[in-house]
Amino acid sequence: MPGARAAAIGSLTIAAMRVLVVGAGFAGCCAALLLRESLGADVIVLERAHVPGGMLRTLHTADGVPYEYGPRVVSVFRGTPDVLPFLRRYLDLQERRIYQGTRLRPGYPVIPFPVDIESLRALPCGAQVERELAAIRERGAPPGERDLRDYLETSVGPTLTELAFEGFNRKFWGRRLEDMPAEWGKLRRLERIARTGRYRLPSEAAHYYPAGGFNGLFDRMLAGVDVRYGVTVRRIESDGRRASVATDAGAFAADLVVSTAPIDAQLDHRHGALEWRGYRVEVDVVGRDAEPPLGTAPDGVPFAWLYTPWADTPVCRTTDFGVIHHGPRAADRPGPTVLLREIVDDSVAMYPVWWEDAKFLRYLDDAVRLANVIPLGRLGLYKYTTMDSTYAMVRRLADSLGEYLSAAPARRVELLRGVRGDWGN
Ligand SMILES: Cc1cc2nc3c(=O)[nH]c(=O)nc-3n(C[C@H](O)[C@H](O)[C@H](O)COP(=O)(O)OP(=O)(O)OC[C@H]3O[C@@H](n4cnc5c(N)ncnc54)[C@H](O)[C@@H]3O)c2cc1C
Repeated sequence: MPGARAAAIGSLTIAAMRVLVVGAGFAGCCAALLLRESLGADVIVLERAHVPGGMLRTLHTADGVPYEYGPRVVSVFRGTPDVLPFLRRYLDLQERRIYQGTRLRPGYPVIPFPVDIESLRALPCGAQVERELAAIRERGAPPGERDLRDYLETSVGPTLTELAFEGFNRKFWGRRLEDMPAEWGKLRRLERIARTGRYRLPSEAAHYYPAGGFNGLFDRMLAGVDVRYGVTVRRIESDGRRASVATDAGAFAADLVVSTAPIDAQLDHRHGALEWRGYRVEVDVVGRDAEPPLGTAPDGVPFAWLYTPWADTPVCRTTDFGVIHHGPRAADRPGPTVLLREIVDDSVAMYPVWWEDAKFLRYLDDAVRLANVIPLGRLGLYKYTTMDSTYAMVRRLADSLGEYLSAAPARRVELLRGVRGDWGN
């Protein structure tokens, strides 16, 4: 991985270090590669599960029909296209033109997503939405800042606020718009909708499907790495020189630990558990000859994803893997495919919540005091990540590792906040 600089703890250089990486998800595997390939460290990966990949796994139904549990495709929507050449070392990435649709209310037709003014116009309330957007543009005032409802109603209008954001917010975040800060809308620059008539931004990224699924990625990234599967890390301690990792399979000692496991659990939940939101998944096998089950875009191409933003269905998104695996032409499907529904279920830890950030920062303050223990990834740094933002995180760590290892705790916090990036990336 380019960009890495020689790093040292005291007089020990990374090349002479024993490094433990906790977790064989995408973050842990990228870190293990960096530490071995670029810095020459002696790396052991400890993974709780019996397979690598974490959230990123291609699964199969009892009849062997494949579907993805986490990322369905590689997308470059967070501004780090350098993940593509990196992944191409391990995967045959095939570009997919993927259409996403949304039914904004029960009984409404499915329209393309990101939504645009043309498709909104076709809805029963289309004229109303258009009038509200035109009035906002004419007024030209910045969005209100009282709370997220105020922000949205003054930047996209009350009708679109209700259709696209109200129910989704309640369902997904468990909060009313008036209980969320305007800051959330600002971060996502939702006010652009009034100018463009489009929302769900940025979303026109190219998507790539890895031929044969994602699992081979981890086998190839981990080739030659000492990975211990079925080992759960319970606690990490450090005396400043050596770190010790307590696991259910005994203790491991190391010069450096990079942990992609949950930061709160690794520090004994001393500030309380960090909150997560998530989905459970339900799968149905769909026959080869079924009509496109999610409907088709105006040009006849079937939708791969369907978003359902109203509150009184627990389903957030449905995926048709036929389109993702084989492309948009039904005739290309070699056999049955999977239709997967994501059902709101907060016992599944997928998405961190912004209102826990202060608590996370207390954990980060404690973590940096363990000089040679570095939290990383979506669980270690408590941030929603995608593959490209995970890769960017690991690259940023590589760039600051030398300084990190010899810095004072206050500077380490700054560096790790930089590695984490903000909520917008
Ligand atoms: C439904 C869904 C859809 C997604 N869609 C996309 C998408 O389209 N595009 C995209 O780019 N990204 C997408 N993502 C995000 C992507 O999955 C993540 O960015 C990425 O997989 C995070 O990797 P990670 O290594 O940080 O975390 P994880 O994948 O969670 O890996 C953490 C690993 O650590 C292990 N572990 C945890 N605790 C311990 C412990 N105590 N001891 C030992 N091991 C431990 C876990 O078993 C796991 O293997 C999606 C995620 C989900 C859930």
